[in-house]
Amino acid sequence: MLLNIQEVTALWQFVICLYLPTRAFSLNGQQSILLVSFDGFRWDYIHRVPMPHFQALLANGVYVTRVENAYITKTFPNHYTLVTGLHAESHGIVANEMYDPSINKTFSTGSSDVYESVWWDEAFPIWVTNQNEGHRSGAAMWPGSDVKIHNVHPSYYMPYNMSVPFTTRVDQLLGWFSGKDYINLGLLYWEEPDEMGHTLGPDSPDMDKVIEDIDLKLGYVMEQLQKAKLMDKVNIIVTSDHGMAQLSPDRVIVLDDIVDRDLYTLVDKSPVAAILPKQGRFDDVYNALINANLSMTVYKKTDIPERLHYKHNDRIQPIILEAKEGWTIVQNRSEHRMLGNHGYDNTFPSMQPLLVAHGPAFKKNYTKQFMKSVDLYPLMCHILGINPKPHNGSLANVQDLLADSKPTSEPPQPEDSSYALLLGALLGCILVIAFLAVFVKQITRSQMPRMPISNIEIAQPLLQA
Ligand SMILES: [Zn+2]
Repeated sequence: MLLNIQEVTALWQFVICLYLPTRAFSLNGQQSILLVSFDGFRWDYIHRVPMPHFQALLANGVYVTRVENAYITKTFPNHYTLVTGLHAESHGIVANEMYDPSINKTFSTGSSDVYESVWWDEAFPIWVTNQNEGHRSGAAMWPGSDVKIHNVHPSYYMPYNMSVPFTTRVDQLLGWFSGKDYINLGLLYWEEPDEMGHTLGPDSPDMDKVIEDIDLKLGYVMEQLQKAKLMDKVNIIVTSDHGMAQLSPDRVIVLDDIVDRDLYTLVDKSPVAAILPKQGRFDDVYNALINANLSMTVYKKTDIPERLHYKHNDRIQPIILEAKEGWTIVQNRSEHRMLGNHGYDNTFPSMQPLLVAHGPAFKKNYTKQFMKSVDLYPLMCHILGINPKPHNGSLANVQDLLADSKPTSEPPQPEDSSYALLLGALLGCILVIAFLAVFVKQITRSQMPRMPISNIEIAQPLLQA
């Protein structure tokens, strides 16, 4: 008994109808995020050398060509912005080097100060909120993720150690996405191409190899996701904290030539130097600096432009010096100088990263020219289905990146789970019933007396009348 063409088509339409809600359900039920930061990956590096893995990811996902990050465009402030949606003045990590007069403490990224919660407790990073809502998070070296913030560590984390290889970080993190106590949020950090960008300068041809290596590293992440059968389940978001500008030995501002170093403390360094004048010496220091060098802008804290969102915090010092792009501020001439640096105005393209995202929550082959890094936090909370804390971003600004499916907070399920098997069995049963229904209909029809074809055709002239 053969089915005619209309019946075959109807059967396939029925099968597709059955499949669509199943697919939507599997996407909706499994939203999870792997956030990856390659430190100092400037937005235009992707065009500099062939980057097949980045290209593959963005062709099947979304690509934001430039991301306006947070001022100052340094590593710690921006990594905290990515996970809180707050400007630096609001989350409290205002620089890599800080002094807080209210607690009389200093913070330096190279020291154990970093582990004091007081520096971080002005905000709630996404892993804290995620865990408070009953989920699990994992972090591999993400700045601040090994600190107890609001009395919480990530469910799983690696204490910061820059000598731990990239592959070890990835393997550990992807392991946390699988198994019984799986995470729905993972954060991965890698120090390059920032380190070599400082050493070589971004314009150096030797940077090409460094950038190519980042593409290979992304390739490793994708390969391991595939192996773990997580590639189409986990939403991977690849971005960075800032870009990199080329420096020159000819573009240096020496503070010792301008103001007596006994009159102030240099809290943070180039290219945005934070100056704390000694008691009663504010005017002396400010007047010495104000017109000293055309390649340096001198701000009283109260005069810092609102657009920088860098004023309303005790950890921002009374005088801020900002070097022009490509210029370096040093205290004395003998200081070690780099060939690349960042920290400048966050509206400079050279300071901005990119964002590439792929996964069930995101559109495919979709390009957006611009977003702000504060908008990533509400986007991630939406995908994970958790309630965002107050933030400076807007989901509406980046909602166009999302596929039509409405994400929920359900955690990921292993691909070969009993749940998937049950769903497959159910689908199989429905298919068999559907096939039998069409089959029986066909038999019934074949046993009925045939209607004369002319009966159908009689209707035609009446309809057309
Ligand atoms: Zn750096």
